[in-house]
Amino acid sequence: MSKIIAGAAIRGAHKIVGRAEEALKKAVAEYGPDKTVEFPNTGYYLPIIYGMTGMEVNTLNDLQPVLERTKNLLPPEPAEHLWLPYLGHTLDAGMATLFADEIIEIIKYLQAPVPYVVAENCPEEGDLWLGAADDVIMRKRGIEFVDGSAPGFAAIVGAAPDSKTAVNIARELQEKNLYVFMSGETEGVSFAEQLRSEGVQLGWETRLVPFGKDITSTVFALGFATRAALSFGGVQAGDFSRILQYNKNRIFAFVLALGEDKDAKAGALLDDEKYAQAAGAINFGFPTIADIGIPEILPTGVCTYEHVVSAGSGIPHDKIVAKAIEVRGLKVQIAKVPVPVSYGPAFEGERIRKDDMYCEMGGNRSAAFEYVTMRELNEVEDGKIEIVGPEIDQVPEGTAIPLGVWVEVAGREMQADFEPILERQLHRLFNAAQGVFHMGQRDINWVRISKEAKAAGLKFKHLGDIIHAKFHGEYGKILDKVQVKIYTRQADVERLREEARKVFHHRDERLGSMTDEVVDVFYSCTLCQSFAPNHVCVITPERSGLCGAYSWLDGKAAYQIEPTGPNQPISKGEPIDTVKGQWKEINEFVSQASRGEITVFNAYSMMEDPMTSCGCFECITAILPLTNGVMIVNREYPEMTPSGMKFSTMAGSVGGGLQTPGFIGHSKHYIGSQKFISAEGGLIRIVWLPKMLKDEIRPLIEKRCQADEELKKILQDRGVENYLDLVADEDSATTEEEVMEFLQQVNHPALELEPMF
Ligand code: SF4
Ligand code: ZN
Repeated sequence: MSKIIAGAAIRGAHKIVGRAEEALKKAVAEYGPDKTVEFPNTGYYLPIIYGMTGMEVNTLNDLQPVLERTKNLLPPEPAEHLWLPYLGHTLDAGMATLFADEIIEIIKYLQAPVPYVVAENCPEEGDLWLGAADDVIMRKRGIEFVDGSAPGFAAIVGAAPDSKTAVNIARELQEKNLYVFMSGETEGVSFAEQLRSEGVQLGWETRLVPFGKDITSTVFALGFATRAALSFGGVQAGDFSRILQYNKNRIFAFVLALGEDKDAKAGALLDDEKYAQAAGAINFGFPTIADIGIPEILPTGVCTYEHVVSAGSGIPHDKIVAKAIEVRGLKVQIAKVPVPVSYGPAFEGERIRKDDMYCEMGGNRSAAFEYVTMRELNEVEDGKIEIVGPEIDQVPEGTAIPLGVWVEVAGREMQADFEPILERQLHRLFNAAQGVFHMGQRDINWVRISKEAKAAGLKFKHLGDIIHAKFHGEYGKILDKVQVKIYTRQADVERLREEARKVFHHRDERLGSMTDEVVDVFYSCTLCQSFAPNHVCVITPERSGLCGAYSWLDGKAAYQIEPTGPNQPISKGEPIDTVKGQWKEINEFVSQASRGEITVFNAYSMMEDPMTSCGCFECITAILPLTNGVMIVNREYPEMTPSGMKFSTMAGSVGGGLQTPGFIGHSKHYIGSQKFISAEGGLIRIVWLPKMLKDEIRPLIEKRCQADEELKKILQDRGVENYLDLVADEDSATTEEEVMEFLQQVNHPALELEPMF
């Protein structure tokens, strides 16, 4: 064990503890000892101090005993040549550093304005640093550490030699699904600023999280790790050894110390404060890997393998990520997808703004669809990708072009029931490519490709390659062959879309006369948790998933293919309320799958504890309070609605995994269901629909009217054939008042219903 690093870490710890003492003294003088101190929206106080000692800090005054404790931890400042034979002093100095970091950082939150952006993602310009993550973010992201979708994080301290190198390191870490936490600087430049200068999107959503430029903000990474142990590991505050063990064993994390500060003491190129942070991280079992020559700490003890690694003159930048992974002992398995851009779940949350887009397909801008169908084994040539029509380099920048994605699969275990499940995967698989954005499914899909991806050589053909590689990788159990045809000419897309639509329709029909009452289980769908982490679709025979792509039969088939996947059977258990559609075990499931956010769920009500929405809904139903009824607007309808909002505005407040009484997102098919908001009176609450939606669902509603005696009578009394004839549209009404007039003219049944509130 090197005396130099121990000496430097202890020296650094002394400096930071001195800073904390100074900051606390000043804050008490300025704000008074009773001033409340808190990180935004957290129940974990100062998480490291709370986790390690159980001390709950609420005021500046509460920080005094913490500071005392910190000073007691601090080993004496070493004389220049003091020999330190064991790691203990370094570890103590590291822990004291983290406590002092938290004191300094919490005091920053007293400043007006707070020097951090309190948000989940960085604004595109201006303020960059996000500071402490609140508990909502911590739960949402921390669960990914627990379920393995993110193995851990890299805490980057300092800056790369140039911004291109920074981007390369960040991309490599993202591809390994690791979060990248950034703090500190080298000679005034930070890693996060380097990324931003290259146009990289920063924030929790892209897993590139800039904490702060001050070295003390490194503590937010370890505070996050501490909270993960308290929250997901069920560890009690104060049980420091279990917190540290939990992290060592479960959170795959390491520190990348980058850059050399010229003012660092001779013999120790990394400055003392950075050493001190590294020492703090070693407590958690997180090793430090440096790009410059610093003394190493190789013997194992706390970390799984080595503690500080720099190999002579430092680890070269193109090897540093691989080295870190090896030192921390992670087995990453990624089937390499043959595309010229980075590929992995870290890119799923990426959005592509209009200015950054090279071209787009679907999303009401052009005709588009995507479709997976089953063929005989001899009808499919595995790996064949055909482009029918112009390739991406033959279309002008900034345009909307038609897109038909026609996927044919074959396999001994393949069943027609599996087609829609495979089809729905395209959303996730396309999104995982850097520079590709995807939304929707079937014939309401929307794809954008960024200029950057185009410049990197991404072609439409690669969409086929992605499907081929990932279908084999993930669904090899049920399919043996995959071929893809991509159509980019209007006439082809329109013609084939009609063919696909017939099948979509047929799939919807197959559910036939099944009711919720005759089955014992419903199916969950949590596929959309990548966008809306607390969202759960509960799929019943009479209520399909809100995207329209998952019926109860699909849920059943998906579960057969992948028993541990996002579609799980939920037995209904005790009914709590059969009118609203509430069951004990369904509540329990939703509560657990939404991480405690949603504890009560009514399948058939839009006013009381309704289903949440992720963002993929085909339609939104919204209350029109004046009329005692509801309006429905579909995604394709771009105009203003009588609610005073367009679809896009409403989608913003309905989506994101929240329960929004008075609003629900749902599939088109659900409108024709007997269980459509049946707790509020059902179909006869509908008072307004866009004409295009009316036309589309007319056959569905027709069938409903014929099967329902009460409805039949209502229609007979009013002399109309189809219930939709009693519903206003944009021709008859564009405001709530006009809707009301229309309702009176037709003697709409909603007028006689109980008030909705
Ligand atoms: Fe699943 Fe619901 Fe998302 Fe559709 S909207 S994919 S059913 S979670
Ligand atoms: Zn969704």
